[in-house]
Amino acid sequence: MAKTAKAAPSGNTGSGEQNLAFQAEVAKLLDIVVHSLYSNREIFLRELISNASDSCDKLRYTALTDGKLLEDGGGAFEIHIVADKDAKTLTISDNGVGMNHDELIANLGTIAKSGTAEFIKGLSGDKAKDVSQIGQFGVGFYSSFMVADKVDVFSRKAGETHGWMWSSDGRGTFSVSPQDDVARGARIVLHLKDDAVEFAESHRLKQIVRTYSDHIALPVILDPGPDALKKKAKDGEDKKGGEDKDETPQPETLNSASALWMRPKTEITADQYKEFYHHVGHAFDEPWHTLHYRAEGAVEFTALLFVPSQKPFDLFHPERKGHVKLYVNRVFISDQLEGLMPRYLRFVRGVVDSADLPLNVSRELLQDNPTLRKIQSGIVKRLLKDLKERAEKVDDYKTFWDSFGPVFKEGLYEDYERREELLELTRASSTNGDGLISLKDYAGRMKEGQDAIYYITGDNIAALKASPQIEGFVAKGVEVLLLTDPIDEFWVTSVGAYDKKPFRNVAEAGADLSGIKGGAEEPKDDTAGPAAEAAVKDLIEKLKTTLGEAVADVRTSARLTSSPVCLVADSGGMSLHLARMLKQHGEGAGLNTKKVLEINPKHDLVKRLMTASGDAFDDSAHLLLDQARIVEGEAVPDPAAFARRLSSVMAKGLG
Ligand code: ADP
Repeated sequence: MAKTAKAAPSGNTGSGEQNLAFQAEVAKLLDIVVHSLYSNREIFLRELISNASDSCDKLRYTALTDGKLLEDGGGAFEIHIVADKDAKTLTISDNGVGMNHDELIANLGTIAKSGTAEFIKGLSGDKAKDVSQIGQFGVGFYSSFMVADKVDVFSRKAGETHGWMWSSDGRGTFSVSPQDDVARGARIVLHLKDDAVEFAESHRLKQIVRTYSDHIALPVILDPGPDALKKKAKDGEDKKGGEDKDETPQPETLNSASALWMRPKTEITADQYKEFYHHVGHAFDEPWHTLHYRAEGAVEFTALLFVPSQKPFDLFHPERKGHVKLYVNRVFISDQLEGLMPRYLRFVRGVVDSADLPLNVSRELLQDNPTLRKIQSGIVKRLLKDLKERAEKVDDYKTFWDSFGPVFKEGLYEDYERREELLELTRASSTNGDGLISLKDYAGRMKEGQDAIYYITGDNIAALKASPQIEGFVAKGVEVLLLTDPIDEFWVTSVGAYDKKPFRNVAEAGADLSGIKGGAEEPKDDTAGPAAEAAVKDLIEKLKTTLGEAVADVRTSARLTSSPVCLVADSGGMSLHLARMLKQHGEGAGLNTKKVLEINPKHDLVKRLMTASGDAFDDSAHLLLDQARIVEGEAVPDPAAFARRLSSVMAKGLG
């Protein structure tokens, strides 16, 4: 994604000030933020404090290898808030890593986070709806414009000498200009809207910080504002000559300023966990699951992990990045470390902190660290154990599965070691009711004589339930798994079997149901007997000749009960659904995806076909094939021919 904001026509001015336009998505976002009433405006402060804390974390890490960056020889990291009621400003500053000219433009002029820009592009334009959607997703820095009609950011990047000022009224453009005497880090000055002056009141600020940012590991300090200092000066004059009690307003630390994950569980409330999850996961939903524990033994570490209840926006991003933050002894190291969390658990958010990892190795080296591997194995084990417990409550687990099932199933072919465990946690729809079932449920209900787990893949449950391929199975009471995630094609073939029972695609040729007991009474079979068999054989030959290259083969079918025909994949070949998926992605050209046409010799139409000939036979044969394609969700290759044949057959029927 482009990270540059577009230069507006005004360009550079004499003072070195540059005027730029926001990226279109940012402008759209700001328009919604600025012009719509926001029910929960106070969260802007949480967002700014969260950014300030991240920025200090980043500098603390880089300074491990480049101590000069700290300038002050390693002074404490702090976040300061100061309000000026008269000037109607609120200032939030940090002494973190800061931003230089280019970073200010890229970070505060564009949206670089994967998935986010796409999300904003897709917003409906209906303000009420958009606001509620944005509410669950959060707007980070841009939320400042809910309470401010102008925002100035003064920033100097650690290690650099020049400072910059970024300024905007949130209405399409912003400016960047060089600035003298800027302290390291970022100072954000909000010029509060008239209806937002409450955010300059110290009691309000205290309450907001305690509610949302108590868990921030750095001190968040409220400094006395100019009005408090003025008052003190005035009081001093009034009392001249009287006793001199020193009541100089003092800075006040508003939060606990200790890493939440290091505090004992009993001292943390559900709300504090939730707020921490919002901060650490950049998330806005409720955590579906919270796991907080300390591992002792060979490797010691503390983990505070969350499973979200909603899908994060980048869940299906090709990079499949994880988001658990690694800390070494309270020092933030990385939030994108491969090797901390397997990719199929990339939806997990949170923190892992261990003193057993070396502080001074690079992120790259950490990736292959054996201690890190042990930590991974420990947290995955605990997570799966918790999932197993929660899976007992079917509805509760469905929330998890609906959001993360498609990602979780990647583990079935990627995590060979835990495959059995992951299979136990896997859920699927089936022909047995509307709920999700486990493979254990399926296996427990298998019919006498049934030696495989049957499944069918497709785009949606309704179409699968109506597909002719499963008719015979349903008639016999044989359960079929209905798999609709693209990934299902891959894991079933790679896993092969569950509890020694092989997975078998019902849409593959050669389904033999004769060995399975049960189901409805078989209809009287008038296709038995040598004469009838010869007629069927004859029909198959005629169909093969007529349809030629359009099909791989024509066979009789045991699976059909009420449909005359259906298409199936050649046994061992690629499934119809997979072939279609590849085609949709422009792949699979040159693949042999010809299908087998299965016919139902007991069906009236097929019986009539045995005695047909000439054009009537040709038209019907092609129409039957097209019908099977349509039912399968495929396009008819020659619509004109289809229409012509259909008209001709209808005309005869009406005649
Ligand atoms: P997010 O924090 O979710 O990435 P934001 O819109 O809040 O999104 O911020 C965008 C980026 O701007 C951040 O990723 C960070 O790089 C930068 N940024 C924001 N605030 C600060 C700050 N106080 N100090 C340094 N960089 C910051």
